[in-house]
Amino acid sequence: MRKSFKYKLYNQKNNIQIGNLIDDMHQVHVHFMKLQRRYYRLFKKYIPKKRMNKHLTKLKRTTKPHWQSLPSQACQNVLVRIDFGYQKFFDNIEERKAGITKKKIGRPHIKPSHKYNSITFTQAGWGIDGNRLHIRGLDKHFTFWKHRNWSGKIKTVTIKRDTIGDYYLALSCEDTEPSDHLPKTGNRAGIDFGLKVFLTLSDGTKIVSPEFYKKSLNAIRSASKTLSRKQYLSGGWFRAKQHLNRVHKKVANRRRDWFWKTALKLCKRYDYIAIETLNLQGMKKLWGRKVSDVAFGEFSQILEWQCKKFGKTFAKADRWQPTTKTCYKCGYKNKDLTLADRFWACESCHTHHDRDINAANIVLQAGVPVS
Ligand SMILES: [Zn+2]
Repeated sequence: MRKSFKYKLYNQKNNIQIGNLIDDMHQVHVHFMKLQRRYYRLFKKYIPKKRMNKHLTKLKRTTKPHWQSLPSQACQNVLVRIDFGYQKFFDNIEERKAGITKKKIGRPHIKPSHKYNSITFTQAGWGIDGNRLHIRGLDKHFTFWKHRNWSGKIKTVTIKRDTIGDYYLALSCEDTEPSDHLPKTGNRAGIDFGLKVFLTLSDGTKIVSPEFYKKSLNAIRSASKTLSRKQYLSGGWFRAKQHLNRVHKKVANRRRDWFWKTALKLCKRYDYIAIETLNLQGMKKLWGRKVSDVAFGEFSQILEWQCKKFGKTFAKADRWQPTTKTCYKCGYKNKDLTLADRFWACESCHTHHDRDINAANIVLQAGVPVS
């Protein structure tokens, strides 16, 4: 099983050098993205990865000699990422032509430097000794908090920079030690996401979201107010911006922590968990900010991973199932049901339904296990 392990780098003076390295990689990114666009404009063609690689070596010899000091595998990874983005874009065009999907994936963007925040090494150019990372070319050591051991063979090493200037090390390992599977309980559950009640399970359990964002709204408001009073791009502005970012990060951290714990609880109780495929863009349009706050998408990802890790079955139900309007006992469709009706009675089999519990049961029935 492929797993990734994340460690925080100490806040050390040397970190600025990693930051500079990431910015250099951004230069490579911009150069090749522009090249792709120019090439398309002239010849209506895409430059494949191999040719980009060749061109990179040529550039190092000719017009960009300063790129020679950059770790070469990390440079190649920039091209891998560009290629990945374009391949997804091309595949999507094919799929839409064939009518497999309606979702549109846009042409890859040139990333602005503040959004270009990571650098990936594969086999060469780095070394790890205890809790110290060494990057060839920088000739410096970077210490990180090794709060746990990783297992398996390290395939890639990624260094990430976040919005408040902290650096993280992510090791992606292959052949890791599998986690112990949780004991089987024989229980099955379908899950309905909601705004009032975060999760409603098909057996009637309701789990309410702690709404961390709402609780920190005052802190966020005051931080954004401070920011808006500063002169744009001044020293004070950057400090205030970082403070706001820090508040946001705290909210996200607390929420994610709660997600992991909730997902674990569910995995302990059920062998089979089904959720509905979400249409996040549509939900945002319908409900606004609160959807981002409850973050269904992040939760379902975490739940899927936990299920895989602990040997439970994770299933997804098709998005177009009319989950709320169908009676799960007899399949009768109640067309008159509006969003405001929390409870309704089935006209055909006379069961009294809680809207959310009924939806969760439909999801449970319609779920198809994800391999
Ligand atoms: Zn019925």
